[in-house]
Amino acid sequence: MDDVELLSSFVVPCRYDHASEGQFREIRDRRLRVQLEKAYENVPYWHDLMDDARIRPGEIRTVDDLSRLPLSTKDQIVSRPTRDRLGSDPSKLIQRYTSGTTGPPMEVYYSIGFILSTLIYLHGHFRRWYGLGRMFKVLQISSVSPAAPSLVSKPGEAARSPAWQRRARGEATRPGAAIFWPAIDRFVRSVHFERRIETVLPVIKTFAPDVIMINASYLRMLADYAGETVESVRPKVLISTGEPLDEPTRSYVERRLGSPVCQMYGSNETGSLALDCLEGRNLHIFSDRAIVEVLSKEGEPVRPGEMGEIVVSELLNQGMPLLRYKMRDLGYASSEVCPCGRSLPLLKSVEGRQIDCIATRDGRLVTPKRILALMHSAEGLPRCQLVQRSRDSFTLRVFPWSGVRDPNPDGLISELVGALRSELGSQVDISVSRVQVDEPPKRKMRPVIVQMSSRPEPYPIS
Ligand SMILES: [Zn+2]
Repeated sequence: MDDVELLSSFVVPCRYDHASEGQFREIRDRRLRVQLEKAYENVPYWHDLMDDARIRPGEIRTVDDLSRLPLSTKDQIVSRPTRDRLGSDPSKLIQRYTSGTTGPPMEVYYSIGFILSTLIYLHGHFRRWYGLGRMFKVLQISSVSPAAPSLVSKPGEAARSPAWQRRARGEATRPGAAIFWPAIDRFVRSVHFERRIETVLPVIKTFAPDVIMINASYLRMLADYAGETVESVRPKVLISTGEPLDEPTRSYVERRLGSPVCQMYGSNETGSLALDCLEGRNLHIFSDRAIVEVLSKEGEPVRPGEMGEIVVSELLNQGMPLLRYKMRDLGYASSEVCPCGRSLPLLKSVEGRQIDCIATRDGRLVTPKRILALMHSAEGLPRCQLVQRSRDSFTLRVFPWSGVRDPNPDGLISELVGALRSELGSQVDISVSRVQVDEPPKRKMRPVIVQMSSRPEPYPIS
């Protein structure tokens, strides 16, 4: 992104919240043209893709022309050497990995301008959308140690910046670092746990965050095990990330922890893409920063209210540009207007990864979010995972370690099996298997796993 863009995001971080259609068009078209030109000039992957498709970057002038550009998948992008997908030398960029929940982790790179503008953008949006003070504190909770080696910490201990660690050891730091890093440390912390989420409670208590960012399933665990601690701190908002948030979980967590739950959608590759407002609890797309398309199997935009695959063109990261990138997530398009009055368009719902969708005999796709909603419809159910073995054969794995309050959950489990059968078709066979492990898994657990050897792609876009 150029300096003017960066400066403007510093000065007015929420300037497009109430933008008109014309203003959106203007900023998106302009940023798209710059991004395409730079990608063509500096990044071999995009240069070759456009050459192969016989497109010159100047021919795509507006968002309406974007459909001429072919879609790209993660596999296509990682099939090229790393340098071929970067806009500059990797030593000038900031590197992270994707989670690798569905395949090998992918190295992703951000320009420093992109990181800065994202931080400022999110700071402005959290503050204004959730009514926070200027100096609010954010705690990020995850189950894996932060990817940057300099931030590695022990489970249950807040990760500290490298400069903070050097200062703690009495070593010299760069000029300015003595002010900058402690200031960041004061307001942003990240902590991880292995298996037991209770280990992060001391950090929550002492740091007293205004915002907690956490995966939806861990948020549920936090509500199971940490009700009193979180309630005593009373964060202003809990932000669920990384997994679809089902409505039973949202209301369960809000009831137990006493703070509103909002969701943020995005990925490590693309950065943050959409955020829930407090008033309508609707996911507003950061339309000035990214173009989000929801496409049918034919590759056409779906109608509002219909489900399709989410495809993203990120407009600001010139470190590793991503254009018409298939997120492999399904979501619902929307043309609704949010009661909060913001004009940032809505993404009605993010339903989860398409490879975790179950194709029913009558041709429907049952999404992970739908299955999660059924699994969470009754309180007192232990944690479950649905495994599809063949078209009509499923195993419901039940984990006895997890949050069982009802000493005899058998009744609830058979109710769940009934609900799953009416969702998936009465002909399906669902066997229940109790998984005899004492401890929760180390990493996040997918609610649905499809283990069929010859399985057609559930949502191929032609
Ligand atoms: Zn809203």
